[in-house]
Amino acid sequence: MKIRIQVVVEAENGEPEKVDEIARLERGALRPESLGLTLAEAKVLLHGMQQAVVTGQIVEYLEKFKTCPDCGAHRTRKGQHPLVYRTLFGKLNLVSPRLYDCPCQNHGRHSSSPLAELLSTHCAPELLYLETRFASLMSYGLSVELLTEVLPIAEEISSTSVRRHLQRVAERIEGELGEEQFQFIEGCPSDWAKQPPPGPPLTVGLDGGYVHASDQKSKAEGWFEVIAGKSVQTEGGAKVFAFVNKYDTKPKRRLYEVLKSQGLQMNQQVVFLSDGGDTVRDLQHYLSPEAEHLLDWFHISMRLTVMRQMIKGMTAELKPGDKYPETATPLADLVREFRIYIGANQAFIPNYGDRYRHDETISTAFVESTVNYVVSKRFVKKQQMRWTQRGAHLLLQIRVQVLNDDLRKTFARWFPGMRAEEPAALKEAA
Ligand SMILES: [Zn+2]
Repeated sequence: MKIRIQVVVEAENGEPEKVDEIARLERGALRPESLGLTLAEAKVLLHGMQQAVVTGQIVEYLEKFKTCPDCGAHRTRKGQHPLVYRTLFGKLNLVSPRLYDCPCQNHGRHSSSPLAELLSTHCAPELLYLETRFASLMSYGLSVELLTEVLPIAEEISSTSVRRHLQRVAERIEGELGEEQFQFIEGCPSDWAKQPPPGPPLTVGLDGGYVHASDQKSKAEGWFEVIAGKSVQTEGGAKVFAFVNKYDTKPKRRLYEVLKSQGLQMNQQVVFLSDGGDTVRDLQHYLSPEAEHLLDWFHISMRLTVMRQMIKGMTAELKPGDKYPETATPLADLVREFRIYIGANQAFIPNYGDRYRHDETISTAFVESTVNYVVSKRFVKKQQMRWTQRGAHLLLQIRVQVLNDDLRKTFARWFPGMRAEEPAALKEAA
């Protein structure tokens, strides 16, 4: 069987139909692998269709610039430039004409390039979206392998270009984040009382993780801290957020926007659970008048577990008649440290038992897994992965958007032609 695949551009204004042949297929005896299209054929078809569709669109687009909109006079061509535009279905080598303005519009010799102005990003939004999305889930190199394997764009993208694109998208998202403020509490108690009854409490857990630094000046500087957290609504939804501690200039605004996107009202209760670190504690202050700040039970129980295991180990080694060593053991160090930890966090220690029995949250073991989910999976999988603070911070912003299912919505806001819905695609690879 022989099959020809054509693109037909329908006639308008009495012009003839335009027919482009894209490919010819031949099929012999039917075998499982010859049923329908192969990936290689699909790539050829997509690439060919893209060229045909784009050619038609550009002819039509440029047509309306050929004459002056006011007097109808023909605009003179000053010259033309090659224009490379990358799309999901192949790189397009376009020709962008430069046209003089009509003398009735502009008396100088002013000129413009309508196509270059329209396609100033040189990369189709949907390609940008896919590159960014996959690179937030797997390494830049693997993202390139995946995309070039399934799309007709071999040799057209590299891990460097994907990283650059991801950072450009992240910078744009960062640019939309409002200014940092010392506090985000709005209005006064009498306003809060007038607000409608708030939703159930939000529980926010915060914790830190460490990422290998690429510019290792000394051993102590070999790592930098990444803060990750999760804000959980009692009924359903949860959102994650993350940032590089020393790099981010707007951590409080960042967290505030997450709470706001979950409908935070000033009369709503927010429970912050964190480790005793100053960084995270400063962050959670002045975000809500109804905030409660608690030391995460998880961090206490971790310490208790370590001590308990150490005692077990020591008991096992003791022979009858031995005495416990009294000082300067690692256990004694741990106990001293534990005492200091509890002392320093006294103000944030509730009656855990009481809260637990009333079904109130005391622990964010879920945040421990959040750090792992948001940070470790992409950042510390391989020992040799090293990051600049900027690179890690920007990648985290995309990763957070993807994990919160927000990236597509962001693109649809920037490029309204991109529908916000996306098919259930793979969320997490590797
Ligand atoms: Zn004119």
